Amino acid sequence: MVQLTIDIGGRPGIDCRGFCEYCYFKRVRGIRALGCRHCPPFQVGCDYCTKSVQERYPGFKELCTVADETLASLQLMSGDISKVTISGGGDPSCYPWFRDLIELSASMEAPLHIGYTSGKGFDDPSIGRYLIDHGLQEISFTVFSANPALRKKYMHDPTPKISLRILEELCGEIDVYAAAVVLPGVNDGEELVATAQWLEERGARGLILMRFANSPEQGLILGNAPVLRGQRIHTVEEFRDLVTSLHDRFDLKISGTPLWDPEIGSPFAVLEERELLERLPRLQKKASVITGSVAAPFLRQVLELCGGGCPVIPVRKEIACLITRDDLESIDLSTLEDTVILPGRAFVHDREAEKILSSDGHPREVVRGPDTLTADAETSMGMDRTQVLDMELQHIADLIRTINRYGG
Ligand code: SF4
Repeated sequence: MVQLTIDIGGRPGIDCRGFCEYCYFKRVRGIRALGCRHCPPFQVGCDYCTKSVQERYPGFKELCTVADETLASLQLMSGDISKVTISGGGDPSCYPWFRDLIELSASMEAPLHIGYTSGKGFDDPSIGRYLIDHGLQEISFTVFSANPALRKKYMHDPTPKISLRILEELCGEIDVYAAAVVLPGVNDGEELVATAQWLEERGARGLILMRFANSPEQGLILGNAPVLRGQRIHTVEEFRDLVTSLHDRFDLKISGTPLWDPEIGSPFAVLEERELLERLPRLQKKASVITGSVAAPFLRQVLELCGGGCPVIPVRKEIACLITRDDLESIDLSTLEDTVILPGRAFVHDREAEKILSSDGHPREVVRGPDTLTADAETSMGMDRTQVLDMELQHIADLIRTINRYGG
């Protein structure tokens, strides 16, 4: 079974009827190339860490281009298509040829998914029924709030009541995963409770809460901080408690990113499964493992339970995948082993990382670890606990094997 992705192109903020107030792409400025694991050895900066990370694409692709590309993809595939997913940098609901696109996608006769939409482009209430009749099976829909006035003010949705009516119809018939960036004092508190209630009553499968980030430490690495001046932010602990309290109140699946999924126990659900941890390879060598401040306490416990002896070094950046060269510059080098493991997706060029981490005159080898070690809420939303545990075990085992291969 194969999956087909239909990429419609488009630019965040521009090809979605203007920037939402909280959009992370709102203030992106031209910055020095970040560097990443995809860069050539002697060049800092590649397409991925300059263009893709900023979703710097041209506008929406013409429908005929989408059709040609889809046909070309189909010719390379064999076997039945198990799923067709529409995705892009812009918002599918704002795609100028939306109904034609859906007809094209429906002609594959496979379950249709819309990877992400804000719904801001839906002005016609009949769209919900149209999508259901054309095989839409799953959609990730940014609700922000079930209060139309808040959707209008913060998402600039010109027809918030119609978007919510469409969302309501979809909730009743297909798998809807709603999402909301949580702005303290705006759509949290009773507003958020009302939104969760609204979604639960209408039959949504889940609600993913996204903690709003407003500073580089929280993950704004594109020179775009602050996104909202003066906006209050939840601490990681406040946010975790918020997710827990809502989860306890509703049957609807509620999880949060950067943490956590109370139903599954992730990130690092494996910490609750000591017998599974015992099946992991044992640490036999030593290396320093750099990670973000959210993952560090969990990862430290995991590595201790797998033999120990490898210091876990948190940087100020909360998310490991968003670590940049500045974060490495703030590490106390005297605490590092001769081998240092960097998160696979960290936005630092390997050579620059080695230079920074050896700048005290002590040469250190820098090695990339796995791209991910656990599942964030967006990943775990469609997974069950066993799948998350399998994923964690596989990636943590990879990390331990990397340490045992390169460590001192
Ligand atoms: S719909 Fe999404 S990409 Fe577009 S402006 Fe809003 S947050 Fe940004």
